[in-house]
Amino acid sequence: MGKKINIAVDGHSSTGKSTLAKQLAKKLRYRYIDTGAMYRAVTLYALNAGIAAEGKVNEKALIKVLPDINIDFDPDKGANHALLNGVNVEGEIRAMQVSKHVSHVAKIAEVRTKLREMQQKAAAKGGVVMDGRDIGSAVLPNAELKIFMTADPKVRTKRRYDELHAKGNPASMEEVRQNISERDRIDTGRKENPLIRVDDALLLDNSRLTQEEQLEIALDWAHEVIEKVQ
Ligand code: C5P
Repeated sequence: MGKKINIAVDGHSSTGKSTLAKQLAKKLRYRYIDTGAMYRAVTLYALNAGIAAEGKVNEKALIKVLPDINIDFDPDKGANHALLNGVNVEGEIRAMQVSKHVSHVAKIAEVRTKLREMQQKAAAKGGVVMDGRDIGSAVLPNAELKIFMTADPKVRTKRRYDELHAKGNPASMEEVRQNISERDRIDTGRKENPLIRVDDALLLDNSRLTQEEQLEIALDWAHEVIEKVQ
């Protein structure tokens, strides 16, 4: 078997990055890494420790406890569930309370450095589909394939709303809309590794595409690159 490439999947909130990245990894038999889940797990720790509350994060206190925060993925779960200090927190990290604080946590340079190092280590041997905001630009700038996903904000709001309700997390459409636009604003405007589309990323606007169509496009791109690097 030939060389295994790395694939970076970046983009705006609620564009279905995770769904696509997971399906792509499954088809290629690559490892899927959800970097958003890692930022969410740090945020959950901060909320539980009282370091984050009411839309604010005590940066100094969080930096101090960073060595106590251990994040991993449960290898037993097909979907690669996030583990926070050994506990499966996959359900909890999707709650609105975490979504409201996560972009504030993700702004902190020390948090980004810690998670970036873990992410780079995980991709060192290749064969990874990594989903996030700064993968193609900062974490894996040499990824052989970079995909940048976007979609109409209305479509994204409806998707996230349906997803939250399906999981029993009640939130109003307006609350979801505000959260998505606020996270985009903070993620794009932050100093440390902001969300940007790098020049060599292929744009995938999925406002009017089904999941099957997106996967077909991404798989075509992946196969093309894989053939080239052999
Ligand atoms: O992908 P998800 O919506 O779960 O990500 C949650 C948040 O984590 C994002 O809004 C962003 O603030 C942060 N994040 C990041 N860099 C990444 C992945 C996520 O800053 N690579």
